[in-house]
Amino acid sequence: MNNFFQDLKENVINQYKQCQAYKLLCDSQGFNPSINLNTEKDIENIPFIATTLFKKSADIFKHLLRVPVETIEKWTVSSSTSGDPSMVGRRRQELMQIGEINERDKEITRPYIVQECVFYPEPEVMRKHKSEMILGRPTESYMGNLLDLFEFKEGTIFLVKEEDEDLTIDIDKFKNFIIKHDQLEEHLAIRGSTLLIFNAIKELEETMRPVKLGKNVLVHTGGGGWEGKKGNISTGIAITRQEFVETVASFLGIPEENFIDGYSFTENTCGILGHYSKEYKDYLFHVPKWGKVIIRDIKTLKPLYNPGDRGFVQILNAYGTDSFAGASILVDDIAEIVSMDQCPDCNKYAMTIKVIGRVKGAEAKGCGATLNVRSEI
Ligand SMILES: [Zn+2]
Repeated sequence: MNNFFQDLKENVINQYKQCQAYKLLCDSQGFNPSINLNTEKDIENIPFIATTLFKKSADIFKHLLRVPVETIEKWTVSSSTSGDPSMVGRRRQELMQIGEINERDKEITRPYIVQECVFYPEPEVMRKHKSEMILGRPTESYMGNLLDLFEFKEGTIFLVKEEDEDLTIDIDKFKNFIIKHDQLEEHLAIRGSTLLIFNAIKELEETMRPVKLGKNVLVHTGGGGWEGKKGNISTGIAITRQEFVETVASFLGIPEENFIDGYSFTENTCGILGHYSKEYKDYLFHVPKWGKVIIRDIKTLKPLYNPGDRGFVQILNAYGTDSFAGASILVDDIAEIVSMDQCPDCNKYAMTIKVIGRVKGAEAKGCGATLNVRSEI
């Protein structure tokens, strides 16, 4: 991992050679990466595969592999509210690469911590939850695989349990945890799904007084859920980032600056971390230098470059996609450019974006048409 552009170019060229579906897509756009990908400016011309094509229902996920299906270890799948998950074939080595990439963020995600309390099931439970065999390979939750790679500290408290087919949360355990650490200013991490944390706090607000865990506590969310839906859990009510942070920070007595959020999706390999900004009342995500993001206009799909511009998120991956066509992915999430080169809140030099959420209604129908390239494959 030295030169992102060279590594990305090599990855795209290999994907073009190994994945017939991607080659057809490129050929239809007159793009041959060996010929047309010469400078960083050319990156915006790299054809992308929409995440909708990885959906089980699209039935071409097998054709989005770059290696024979017998060689993959599993289908990593998204948690899906509709029962139509994304299916991404991965081998051990691609998962290990994600682990290596995430390690680079460890100063942010694991400052000195003595105890972790997480709103997730234990990684193995999460991985295997509702697993099934498809084309001779098991499906496993992608989130569960990320958790597996995260290497939680010994003694971590996992609050979510599997009961029959359902995942349930042990709220009393969480209550005891916050009472035990009240006023102690210990180095703790509370991690997990936004929706579960938010619901737990709302429930506890009814039965107990707020606590003060103090300035050394990290609140690390991930996996989305801001629309009020995640897997089989649904409140039907969207939560704003501001409402989440202000509610949790005030009930637990933790500074708002200590809230971070991870943006990832099943087809992607480089996690993108955001920190909450009191000024922006939102999480500001820094695009890491081992990945690249292009924001594209919702109607024209042309790249956008100005702060305030909103559009689809395209992610270019140089690493960790050797088993599937994940070098250039367009996801139907909308994000807004905050800055092309520097975070205005913490001054870090990085493209900075806000994640707005999924497209809805008529807009979504429009993009369905735009994003559907199945007929070409
Ligand atoms: Zn920042």
